[in-house]
Amino acid sequence: MANIDKDYSGVWVFVEQQEGKLANVTLELIGEAKKLASSLEVQVSTVLLGDKVEAIIPTLLEYGADKVYVIDDPVFHFYRAETYMKAFCYLVEKYKPEILLMGATTTGRDLAGAVATTLKTGLTADCTALDIDLEKKILLASRPAFGGNIMATIVCKDHRPQMATVRPKVMKMPIPESNRTGIVLREKFAIEEDSLRTIVLKIVKDQAEDVKLEDAKIVVSGGRGIQNEHGVKLLKELATVLGGVVGGSRGAIEKNLIDPKRQVGQTGQTVSPKLYFAIGISGAIQHIVGLQGSETIIAINTDPQCPMMKIATYSIVGDALTILPKLIEAFKQSLSEIKNLNLKNINCDIKGVVTVE
Ligand code: FAD
Repeated sequence: MANIDKDYSGVWVFVEQQEGKLANVTLELIGEAKKLASSLEVQVSTVLLGDKVEAIIPTLLEYGADKVYVIDDPVFHFYRAETYMKAFCYLVEKYKPEILLMGATTTGRDLAGAVATTLKTGLTADCTALDIDLEKKILLASRPAFGGNIMATIVCKDHRPQMATVRPKVMKMPIPESNRTGIVLREKFAIEEDSLRTIVLKIVKDQAEDVKLEDAKIVVSGGRGIQNEHGVKLLKELATVLGGVVGGSRGAIEKNLIDPKRQVGQTGQTVSPKLYFAIGISGAIQHIVGLQGSETIIAINTDPQCPMMKIATYSIVGDALTILPKLIEAFKQSLSEIKNLNLKNINCDIKGVVTVE
């Protein structure tokens, strides 16, 4: 049943932070919220729940928030679906935003589902584009559907707020405006610690990865074409030489060559490095959607016609296991002189297609 109420107004962004450290996706979403809010001629507000999180407020305002709702209480020190959902829903019911955006992160996905279910409204997850239907004044939330073969635009016509999650790095980071000010509304929401079902004792960080894949400037990804453990060793060596992070396609993950946490693509992570290596990766659409923000793509593949070679900035045709040792050696010798690679039997044409025999 429709619950559309003209009182619902404004675009809200959930502020994701862990022990006071702000997640970049929040700032990316504030930038996107600004565009939506300007089409609707409304304001952008952010919702900051946490413990001793006042220091985050100026950053939210500088990146474009007009208003910050803050609930600062020790009970919100760690994210818990139960506490965050209750406090968030309290604010939504009190102030009635028309659109709610959250990061499609572990926290955002968990909270968005809990909030949407409690408020009995619609949620479009993992959106890759957001827009406004100017005539109907509703959110157009687009995301890949049917295995990435089509883009579906989903609307929530009859319920408010309209909710969407967006993965990190999908939206552009806005340019901050220093000393920008706005309204800060400090709210109270009482929850007794003893009444809660979950206690967070501590957060154990994953030591395996110093740099997160999504934040890496250089990503060296391997696919099914890296063949075997020897190929993986070469992939890791190239990543180490360049100071990059290893990623992979689902093909490599299915072959147990790469850790599933490093999958790039529709059901993996979205990356936007300066340099992306796609080594033995065919370029299925589900992989491509995860790397479209990359500035330069270097593909190595035996098949010059595969989709990855077509979208790559530089395509190297040949066997990855033969090319990688030469590349590693060449990069070791001179990181700054890539154009002068001293490889035997290598021809580089003006389109950036390199053939190794
Ligand atoms: P293949 O398609 O098998 O390609 C291997 C490539 O290696 C080929 O191009 C081949 O020419 C090349 N090659 C072979 N030998 C060599 C060699 N010696 N040297 C150099 N090149 C060589 N995939 C993802 O990656 N990420 C996702 O998030 C993802 N999500 C999905 C979600 C859904 C709903 C579905 C249906 C699929 C998803 N997939 C995803 C799977 C995707 O469709 C592809 O199957 C997958 O990306 C293929 O991986 P690949 O390119 O490594 O393997």
